[in-house]
Amino acid sequence: MANGQILKEIQDETGCKILLAQKAFSNYDLYPVLAPYLAGTEASGLFEARLGAEEMPGKECHVFCAAYREEDFEELLLYADHIVFNSPTQLKKFGIRAKNAGKEIGLRINPECSTQEGHAIYDPCAPGSRLGTTFAQWQRDMTPEYIALLDGLHFHTLCEQDSDALEVTLQAVEEKFGFFLGKMKWLNMGGGHHITRPDYDRERLKKCICHMRDTYSLEIYLEPGEAVALNAGYLLTRVLDVVQNGDTTIAIHDMSPACHTPDVIEMPYRPPLYSSGEAGEKQHTYRLAGPTCLAGDVVGDYSFDTPLYEGDFLLYEDMAIYSTCKNNTFNGIPLPDIWEAKCDSSYRLLARFGYEDFKYRLGRK
Ligand SMILES: *Cc1c(COP(=O)(O)O)cnc(C)c1O
Repeated sequence: MANGQILKEIQDETGCKILLAQKAFSNYDLYPVLAPYLAGTEASGLFEARLGAEEMPGKECHVFCAAYREEDFEELLLYADHIVFNSPTQLKKFGIRAKNAGKEIGLRINPECSTQEGHAIYDPCAPGSRLGTTFAQWQRDMTPEYIALLDGLHFHTLCEQDSDALEVTLQAVEEKFGFFLGKMKWLNMGGGHHITRPDYDRERLKKCICHMRDTYSLEIYLEPGEAVALNAGYLLTRVLDVVQNGDTTIAIHDMSPACHTPDVIEMPYRPPLYSSGEAGEKQHTYRLAGPTCLAGDVVGDYSFDTPLYEGDFLLYEDMAIYSTCKNNTFNGIPLPDIWEAKCDSSYRLLARFGYEDFKYRLGRK
């Protein structure tokens, strides 16, 4: 809710609209909590668009997909009100149909402006990227007829970044596509804005929004995922065994990063853990790892004031984003329950998973 208030304030002060990128967080039981602070949802394809339309009804429903499938498109028109295409060919294939169905049409552009280091898999501006239309491709393939179909442009190039990176990106967007922005109704500046992080520069974000809004008479959209549910959610795990290999003491717990928090391995990053320190900082250091057969199913090295024993509970923090929507049952590892922690300290069970959830992803017998 604190995140929601920050996002609401930015919308109130700048007139922009903020959408929830559902791929980061889609526990729809909590959409009613978020809805008052948001203009709607953003989807990565048919299923998320349907979820947004069903679970945040009456709000805007945007969709971007790198390539839509013919067999999904008619149904997608039932749910989405803004449809963003990735390429001129996709726009040509589906654009007129979407327009005739009364949809707002956008094209994702690639400003070819990398502002992040280290996380190459999160950089849509990396050389050879498939995401977004480059200026060269626009010039080659965008005829006036298809430009006239567009209501807006979309870019998404940031990942966990501050507004200085947005400012740099906007310069590239203006330089390359400024002429066409004047013909548009809206500009969607994607996600990756870490707006609700305490040290994020929100004043600069507001300046960026107002600059684009006023220079080109645009409605501005942002579609953060992380920022909506940042620093929310805990993952409780139990220590199953403590083993020794040379100087390394390893605690195996029933949370598997490979299954439950794949970004810990994929990104990679080190999740915060309640009441712990860096390796060597407190007296007892452990490597924390999951129960699967994957050698790399390891969270990292953490230290504690007291030794860990079988049966101890550990509490990972900031677990709401990119976990429940990205987990899997590799190795037949069970998925944890999902509970809502209410303000009055009571709890509500949202989901409990069992053998069926593992089995029915593999067959229907
Ligand atoms: C991933 C993504 C988002 C959300 O990104 P966050 O980093 O979670 O804020 C928004 N829009 C698009 C197109 C995305 O691919």
